[in-house]
Amino acid sequence: MFDALYELPFTLDAHPDYESEGGVPALREVQFSLTSNRGCFGSCSFCAIESHQGRMVISRSKASLVKEAERMAAHPAFKGYIHDLGGPTANFQGPSCLRQEEHGPCPAKLCLHPTPCSELIEHHDHYLDLIRGVEAVKGVKKVFVRSGLRYDYLLEVAPASTVQTFIAHLAANNVSGQLRVAPEHVSNNVLDAMGKPPIELYDEFQAIFEEESARAGKKQYLLPYFISAHPGCTLDDAIELALYLRRGHFIPDDVQDFYPTPGTSATCMYYTGLDPRPGRKFAPIHVPKGRERRLQRALLHHHKRENRPLVLEALEKANRKELAHLLVGRR
Ligand code: SF4
Repeated sequence: MFDALYELPFTLDAHPDYESEGGVPALREVQFSLTSNRGCFGSCSFCAIESHQGRMVISRSKASLVKEAERMAAHPAFKGYIHDLGGPTANFQGPSCLRQEEHGPCPAKLCLHPTPCSELIEHHDHYLDLIRGVEAVKGVKKVFVRSGLRYDYLLEVAPASTVQTFIAHLAANNVSGQLRVAPEHVSNNVLDAMGKPPIELYDEFQAIFEEESARAGKKQYLLPYFISAHPGCTLDDAIELALYLRRGHFIPDDVQDFYPTPGTSATCMYYTGLDPRPGRKFAPIHVPKGRERRLQRALLHHHKRENRPLVLEALEKANRKELAHLLVGRR
C-alpha cells in the first residue's frame, strides 16, 4: 500500500497556476526527496509524530524507491541530487521488534528509553542497501540523508561492524557539509525527561563521524539542535549546556524554545508538573515558566552582549556566580 501510494504518477511539480508567481520556493527541498518510512518508535517526549503516524514503522521496498528515483531522474529539473532518503527518523526502517508486528507497541514501555529494549531489531544494513540501490540509479549523482538519525539506536543496537560501515558510508557519500542531529540537550536530567539518550552517545557518534569524514577527505561536521526550557530543565541544567557549548566552541544559531504542542508527554508535563510516562508514576517535574524561560534561552546565547544581564541574573539565581568569567567574560 505504501509503495502503491508513492508509485502513483505524481508530476513532482507545483500546480501550474503558481508559475506566473515564480513557482513555489518550498518545493525545492522536497521535490527530489524520497520518503522511505512512516511512524516512529523513538518516543521523544516533545514530539507528536507517534500520535499522528503511530509507533509502528512501515517502510517501502527497495524496488519502489528505485522506481521513484528513476522517475525523478527523468524530470527536466533534476540535477542528480536526491535531497533526502528517510522519514520521521531516517534509520528506523522497519518495526522495532517482531512482537510489535503481532501485538502492537507495548503500552507500558518505551522502545529506546531509558535503555534500549532487548527485543529491538535493527535495520541499518537494510537502510544502507536502500541508499546504495538509489545511488546506483542512472542519473543520480548523490543521495543525501537529511532526516534525523537516532544515533543511540545505531550505537547501542547495531553490531560494531555495522556501526562503522554505516557511518563510513554516510560520511563519505550522504552528507553535504553538515549533518543535522538532535541531541536536544546535554544534561542527563533533561535528556531523561525528553526521552533522549545520554550525551556521551552523542559525543561517541560525533567522534566516529569526524574520524570517518577525515578518512573520506571531507571537511564536514555535525549540526546539533537544542531545546531550551523543556520540562525537567532547571537553571543548573541550562548552565551545564552553556558550559558544554563553550567547551566545544560551538554557538548554535537555532535554538528552539520549548512550546507545548498537542499530543505529547512534554505538554502534559508542562501543564500538570507531573511526568506521565510509563514507569514514572506521575512524579513531580520542574517546569520552567515566565522569566526562567528567558534566562535559560539567554544562557544558550551567552556570547551575545545583550544577554549579559540575563546570564548574570541566571548565574546569581543558581548560586553559580563564579562562572561569570567564563560565560560573560570580555569578548
Ligand atoms: S517489546 Fe520492546 S521494542 Fe517491542 S514494542 Fe515493546 S518496548 Fe518496543
